[in-house]
Amino acid sequence: LSTVVVQKFGGTSVGSTERIKRMADRVIQEKEKGHDVVVVVSAMGKTTDALVKLVSDITSEPSKREMDMLLSTGEQVTISLLTMALQQQGVEAISFTGWQAGIRTDSILGNAHIQSIDTGRILNELENGQVVVVAGFQGVTEGGDISTLGRGGSDITAAALAAALKADRCDIYTDVDGVYTSDPRFVHRASKITALSYEEMQNLASMGAGVLHPRAVKHAKKYGIPLYIKSSFEKGKGTMIHGKAKQNGSPHVIGITFEADINRLEIFNCSDIEGFQEALMCELASHHIQADVYKQSCRDSISLLVKEQDHQEVLSILEKEKEKWKYSRIERKGGLSKVSVIGQNIKSQPAIKMEMCKVLLENSVRVKLVGESAISVTAVVERSQVQLAAERLHTGFGLDYEVVMKASV
Ligand code: ADP
Ligand code: ASP
Ligand code: MG
Repeated sequence: LSTVVVQKFGGTSVGSTERIKRMADRVIQEKEKGHDVVVVVSAMGKTTDALVKLVSDITSEPSKREMDMLLSTGEQVTISLLTMALQQQGVEAISFTGWQAGIRTDSILGNAHIQSIDTGRILNELENGQVVVVAGFQGVTEGGDISTLGRGGSDITAAALAAALKADRCDIYTDVDGVYTSDPRFVHRASKITALSYEEMQNLASMGAGVLHPRAVKHAKKYGIPLYIKSSFEKGKGTMIHGKAKQNGSPHVIGITFEADINRLEIFNCSDIEGFQEALMCELASHHIQADVYKQSCRDSISLLVKEQDHQEVLSILEKEKEKWKYSRIERKGGLSKVSVIGQNIKSQPAIKMEMCKVLLENSVRVKLVGESAISVTAVVERSQVQLAAERLHTGFGLDYEVVMKASV
């Protein structure tokens, strides 16, 4: 019985036909080792962004069904081209869209969650010796409509398929050579992390480390599938994600994350603040929208922090329930960002919050709000200051490349 390996190639890695041919070589190398190979691909380069942009020429309120119909086409281009590239090299391969691969989702279009995968057809093709190439980021609802999994969702497809196929491992090929202590495109002294537990990666990803979708980690963790993040373009070791974090380890900071495009929605004068807060969180969760909620008693308001891309939907949910919740008005503030210090066992470590505030103050970063959770301390800052904040916090918490290297020799 041969083992299954899932390989995922992100947008940049398949950004041109030249690159698709190079990725085909990577697939063939894995196949030649004797594994059954399932490949998951993203849309080429910035295709998905370009599709979103096309819509704005037509309407500002596209229906969700047609939006998903459109966005799912990007990945369909890549699966067929990669499959042809493999066939051209004499390797037997077949492409599947999400529904052909048996990927069933719930009906929250635009941000659907995978509910089950019927692997029958994939297993058949693997048995026939085929490489199976699956379109990432998409599935089909119970009602037979095409759904998408949310931006960056091809990672989820790869991890969920790896779990359903009980794969040996899931390799995520991307444009960086691993997971770093912060986004290396913005924080130039970020250092590469060799290995992380699922929990640590989930903490980084859920607070903004865009290198991997947080829901991908969830699927892999559930079935203990090792995830390996590596470069599509360079050889060398990447970052291995597996196993558990040390429960009794000493508190330590693992990284600095940020989310650049955040909106604050401040809702004034609700009749029943407690009840409203709870009902609102449930309503948002049912739409798979994440939000942080802060009560500001001094202003008789509730503040919601939501991703810029979600704010329109949150506003329309609020609008629909205006009668019920009887708030007086909503103020929106854009141009904000969140920057977070992510750690293991940092709950109830006031020193971390104090150090964070000190570093930000010393560097004249204006802090709008500070919030805490078991895994993070988060500050809300102006978007124009987020990179400065991330860099200074990275240095302040001893994560800079030079410091980490010195400590390890
Ligand atoms: P793909 O198209 O392959 O899915 P993404 O753009 O989604 O690629 O993810 C890779 C990018 O994630 C990198 O180019 C990097 O800028 C960004 N990134 C954010 N945080 C981190 C981090 N902590 N470590 C590595 N990369 C990160
Ligand atoms: N093509 C989709 C996106 O750009 C999915 C992905 O790349 O993971 O968000
Ligand atoms: Mg991605």
